[in-house]
Amino acid sequence: MKIDFYAFANVNNTIRLREGKLLVRLSDLLEGAPENVLRAIAHILLAKMYRKPIDRSSAARYRKYVGSHDIVRKAHLVRQMRGRKLLRSPRGHYYDLDAIFEELNTRFFHGLMARPRMSWSQTKTRRILGHYDPAHNAIIISRIFDAPKVPALALDYVMFHEMLHLRYPVDHHGIRRRVHTKDFRQAEKQFPHLTEAKEILKRL
Ligand SMILES: [Zn+2]
Repeated sequence: MKIDFYAFANVNNTIRLREGKLLVRLSDLLEGAPENVLRAIAHILLAKMYRKPIDRSSAARYRKYVGSHDIVRKAHLVRQMRGRKLLRSPRGHYYDLDAIFEELNTRFFHGLMARPRMSWSQTKTRRILGHYDPAHNAIIISRIFDAPKVPALALDYVMFHEMLHLRYPVDHHGIRRRVHTKDFRQAEKQFPHLTEAKEILKRL
């Protein structure tokens, strides 16, 4: 069983059974929640997964915690902060995201793609190298790429990948779901030196 805390702006928890492993994703807002609350969430998620009725006391305990003044305020603050923090300048120390987007736009999309907002991530995250945020119509690229040692190829590839998410939108079921359809994968193969680019990402 694997439990991950995710930086969801909304309180959002999921459970899935995959290849005999239970995958639980809990909002990071629940990090540090008392054990009885976490147990209640576990009960609720398991009941949901097995389509069993939800134990009343668990439901009450969970609702009370989530609905409590503190957590509501915290969720609101986090949402506000993320909203504000989300977009930074496209211009980094070494790379300019707008310029990279336009260059790839010309090379692969006949210059037809409308440029969304471009932003470097706030932190040098390795967990999320890039993502397209439809809510803000923005592509956010991890700041780890804004360094002289990073080959342009790696950054080009990550940008191209996110542009394909624009080109091939998917349904987002509340959580940040990355779905790479067959068309998406096929289109991605147009990228020259794809394997090399992926290798560089592994070594970053
Ligand atoms: Zn993707």
